[in-house]
Formats: sequence, C-alpha cells, structure tokens
Amino acid sequence: MIPQEFIQSLLGRVDIVDVVDRYVKLKKAGANFQACCPFHNEKTPSFTVSPSKQFYHCFGCGAHGNAIGFLMEYSGYAYPEAIRALAESVGMPVPETRSRTEKPGAAQAPGLAARMLEALNYYRAELKKSKTAMKARDSERLGALRLLSAAAKQREVDERITLDDAALVAIVEKEIKKRRESIAQYEKAQRQDLVDREKFEISVIEVYLPKQLSQAEVESIVAEAIAATGAKSAADMGKVMGVVKPKLAGKADMGKVSALVKAKLAG
Ligand SMILES: [Zn+2]
Repeated sequence: MIPQEFIQSLLGRVDIVDVVDRYVKLKKAGANFQACCPFHNEKTPSFTVSPSKQFYHCFGCGAHGNAIGFLMEYSGYAYPEAIRALAESVGMPVPETRSRTEKPGAAQAPGLAARMLEALNYYRAELKKSKTAMKARDSERLGALRLLSAAAKQREVDERITLDDAALVAIVEKEIKKRRESIAQYEKAQRQDLVDREKFEISVIEVYLPKQLSQAEVESIVAEAIAATGAKSAADMGKVMGVVKPKLAGKADMGKVSALVKAKLAG
C-alpha cells in the first residue's frame, strides 16, 4: 500500500499540464489549457486542464480527474501503477507499507477488470485509427465501456483499493440498474431513440456480469426459498428476499426477482 502522504506530496510536485501534454498536445486558452478530448470523439476542443486546480475536465463527456486519474484513464493503469509511473517521471522513489488487509498479488489486475480494460483499449485504439470511419455503434460501445471504467476508477481512487471481481460486478449491476430506470422513464416519455440507446449500453456492459440464470432457474430458487422460509403472505417478502439475494445477486435482474416473489406470495 502506498502512503497517502506520499501521494499528496507527489501531486504537489507534478504539474498536470506537463503530464497531460505528454500524451495530448495542449493549447493555452486564458487561464487554462485545452485540446480535443482524448476520451471521446470530437472536432472542437471541450477538454480543459486547469493549472490552478490541477484538474482536467471535459465538457463533452464529463471525463474529470487529477494527474493520477488522467494516467489511469488514458493509459489504463490501475491506481498504484499510475502513482508509480507518475513518481518515476519526477524521480521520486515510492515508499510501500504492507497493510494487514492487503492480500499478496492484490495489485494484479483481476480477470474481469483486465477484460474490461482490454475491451476499452481496443475501442480506444480503433477510435484513434479512423475517427471518421469508425462505426457510430463502436463509438457508442466505447462510451458505455468508458462510463463503466470511470465508475470503477472513481471507487479505486475514493477507497484507495484495487477492485476485485466481486466489487466490479457490483459496479456493473449498479450501472445496469441506472439504465433500466432511465428506460422506464424514456418509455413513458415515448423517446424510443433514447430507450434504444440505453438498451444498447446494457448489452455492452452486461457482458461483464457472471452468466445470467434462466427464468426457470430463477423460479426454482424462489420456490425453494418460499418453501424453506415457510413464507405465506406479502408480509414475509423480506424473509424470502434475504434467502434469494445471495444466490441471485449478479446472476439475475433483482427488480424482476422481487416482482416474482411478490406475485408468488400474493397467491
Ligand atoms: Zn470528452
């Protein structure tokens, strides 16, 4: 584990303008610097870097962060790797302390995270290769993956951890849930175009969930749970959900599961 004090002094030493400029040529614009955003496809610059705040921000796609966050997002580094790369660039040796909770090898990219990054890097490379020729669908695919990786990155930075697969699954589920909620709203507003976009994004990111159970499998787990808890009415809903949740989390749409339990208990 890298001590927080070191990270702070490292961020005090580097200038985010230099860091970003190594990868994306920046132009001075007033108090800030700007460029075409490296994280989404655009022709006029909406990506800005603030030397006073030491942050980058894109008004087009919402990409946002400090020098460490930029390296993670741009190069696909995990949090500790980004810190090491940044420290190396200014010649600061990185001190390491072993935390008791840290498992050996925890810093290695886990399976799911690695797959997500691989896909992300693939689409980024495609996007760079042929900005105009790239199919709109691929660009949307990249957008959905980028959002997912940004959500994962945010948690890694906030909690100073490398996410394991279980934590990533939770993030993927949350992102899918958000989109399902949007779909319900867009359906009410009769915006089929937006419904389609959300559905497409779900199809891109649900690939990172463990295999989904079939309707029959879900129903049999629910039936077992009702029998095991002796649930008789809607009042026992909580008991049944307590039993099915650990069995189905990440493997089924929990909104639908809870509707199913409710329907069964209603008789
Ligand atoms: Zn952007």
